[in-house]
Amino acid sequence: MVVDCLVELAHVFIDKTFTYKVPDNLKKDIHIGKRVVVPFNNQVLEGFILNVRYEEETKDLKEIISVTDIIPLNEEMLSLGRYMKDSYLCSLMSAYQSMLPLAMKARKKVDIKIKYDKYISLNDTDLSKYKFNEKQQKIIDILLKDKKVKLDDLKTISKSSIATLLKKEIIKVTYSEHYRYENKNREKKDFYLNEDQQKVFNEVINNLNDPKTYLLYGVTGSGKTNVYIKIIKEVIKEGKTAIVLVPEISLTFQLINRFYSTFDRIAVLHSGLSDSEKYDEWRKIYNGEVDIVVGARSAIFAPLKNIGIIIIDEEHSETYKQDNNPRYDAIDIALERAKYNNASIILGSATPRLESFARAKKGVYKLLTLDKRYNNVKMPESIIIDMNKEFKKSNSYYSKELLEAIRNVIAKDEQVILFLNRRGYSTTIMCSNCGNVIKCPNCDVTLTYHKSSNMLRCHYCGYATKREELCSCGGTFKEFGLGTEKAKEELEDLIKEAKVIRMDIDTTTRKNAHENIIKDFQDKKYNVLIGTQMIAKGLDFKDVTLVGIINADTSLNFPDFRASEYTFQIINQVSGRSGRTKEGKVMIQTFNPDHYAIKYAKDNNYLGFYNEEMIMRKKLSYPPYYYLCMIRVVSSDYNKASDASIKIAKSLRNNIKETMILGPSVANIFKLNNKYRFQIILKYKDVKLVMEELKKIESYYFNNKEIKLEITFNPRKL
Ligand code: ADP
Ligand code: ZN
Repeated sequence: MVVDCLVELAHVFIDKTFTYKVPDNLKKDIHIGKRVVVPFNNQVLEGFILNVRYEEETKDLKEIISVTDIIPLNEEMLSLGRYMKDSYLCSLMSAYQSMLPLAMKARKKVDIKIKYDKYISLNDTDLSKYKFNEKQQKIIDILLKDKKVKLDDLKTISKSSIATLLKKEIIKVTYSEHYRYENKNREKKDFYLNEDQQKVFNEVINNLNDPKTYLLYGVTGSGKTNVYIKIIKEVIKEGKTAIVLVPEISLTFQLINRFYSTFDRIAVLHSGLSDSEKYDEWRKIYNGEVDIVVGARSAIFAPLKNIGIIIIDEEHSETYKQDNNPRYDAIDIALERAKYNNASIILGSATPRLESFARAKKGVYKLLTLDKRYNNVKMPESIIIDMNKEFKKSNSYYSKELLEAIRNVIAKDEQVILFLNRRGYSTTIMCSNCGNVIKCPNCDVTLTYHKSSNMLRCHYCGYATKREELCSCGGTFKEFGLGTEKAKEELEDLIKEAKVIRMDIDTTTRKNAHENIIKDFQDKKYNVLIGTQMIAKGLDFKDVTLVGIINADTSLNFPDFRASEYTFQIINQVSGRSGRTKEGKVMIQTFNPDHYAIKYAKDNNYLGFYNEEMIMRKKLSYPPYYYLCMIRVVSSDYNKASDASIKIAKSLRNNIKETMILGPSVANIFKLNNKYRFQIILKYKDVKLVMEELKKIESYYFNNKEIKLEITFNPRKL
């Protein structure tokens, strides 16, 4: 017997398999997908068995050292890995690694122990032959009722009585795995769907045997989550399982709690969990102890069996695309898994991506609509505030109207959410004498001033330095631009009654910080919540009656063809936090009051925006009319990156037909972490036309130490 193994090597990923002999004593443990320890040159490495062959062992083959008891990759995962390799041009090893929690990756750097709980249960069923004292009888009664009881839960029970019963072998001790993550929200709630929601439910449930991909276009507050919950309940009743993806789950703990208040056999997978908690949740899934998994992007790989439905909430969220290797899109993986499991998919959003809506219009996806808020709550009334006029008047980032509205809301004991897509104090500092702007030494971006720590920070590489008092020319620095830190400070100066809490990356680094901020705001310890896009999604506060968008233009200025789409989406999403039970208002401050994205967002007119934006996309040959592939050429040597990118573009132009090739040009952030970045963009209708050539180029640079290629198919952002 010999096995072909994919071995994880130290630096490069080679997809070649290596063949090993299996010693007799290990033969019974061999199975495809299992992890083995093998000798490789002079090292001992880990690998996956990809193939088992029953053939003559040639004597010069080395033997595997051991088979680990780590959970193997199953057949579905093995085939998903091959799909990823073919579609994203990543290595098989990187595909498999991305499916596993840290503790299970090959060459893992951490060793996470499985914990066990001690249980007692009856050993002897014929109890009539014993005579128990009172304390012993109490234990016996508990075990007769509950069969198996965790020892830790028996705090009030006499230890010596347990010991006696154990000694007489009347009871016995067993061990079960202990799962570290615990959700405290176990209070169950039920509800009925309204008529519109019921229609969506029926459509999906009646077609479970003829699975489809649905696009659920439902305005904010229409109750998409409630529909998901009922659908999943039904799917589970039919003996199947469900995956729910949410954008960044640590931010949407309100949403997780809604799932916990319906389901018991549930696991969560997200960045708010420690590595050991993640490992436990993963094993719980693998062991078949849950029917539903709620998680962020990588939860799409959850080892659930017999999946009936995959739900991707806020399908427009760019977090569903992984931006390092393997550059997969959770929706692609969902489609693959749905095929394998014969499952349906629901993509849900109040602002679907143009790609998705176009697919729904063409009938590739089935469109389902919820166009009213639950309980006929009205959409909030929005107004646009022209900051060109306001800024001249008062030189403040807050318009008079917004300030007045905030005061009114506070006076009524209601709450305000303020959105600003920039963290830190000021966006930059500049010398008022020589005009010197402080930039990151590693990246081609300006440093952001953070006042509380008096530091200048790079938001891309993490570089930080103390703010100097004076510029090298002797001039003083002035602050430019507005971040959440300063916006909070200004507001507290302007409105004394404002009790403001800030939520952005800087205030949420500690575990449970998100949860605490949200709870405190919910408990009305604060009346204003100010934050970045973290506050845009999924939050549901009944007393929020005003949403203020402090500067709607930040995203409009992104150098990305989707800038208008992002702006429309983010305004729509944040606005959706207003007036979810009482009548609400939205105020959009902008220097571009006539921009169509802002106007359609104000009117909550998705279709209007869609139609106008589609004309633009067609004119410029962008998605959904064309597919995109972005090739980044990255090197710490400027000339090498530049030369290679020119060479690659030339070769693509020579060898690919019917494809537009743009570039090379410099990437949006040209220098990042001391590496120079050039990019080439391909626009094509048929991926088959480009794949062969890209494969060649990719393998040409595969082991190049100085030039790295980053190939992203269908990037969600540029
Ligand atoms: P969406 O995700 O579409 O923005 P939500 O699912 O958050 O909307 O629902 C909005 C609000 O309406 C929530 O407070 C939710 O609890 C409530 N809601 C929606 N549908 C129902 C229902 N069928 N029964 C009771 N409450 C509902
Ligand atoms: Zn930097």
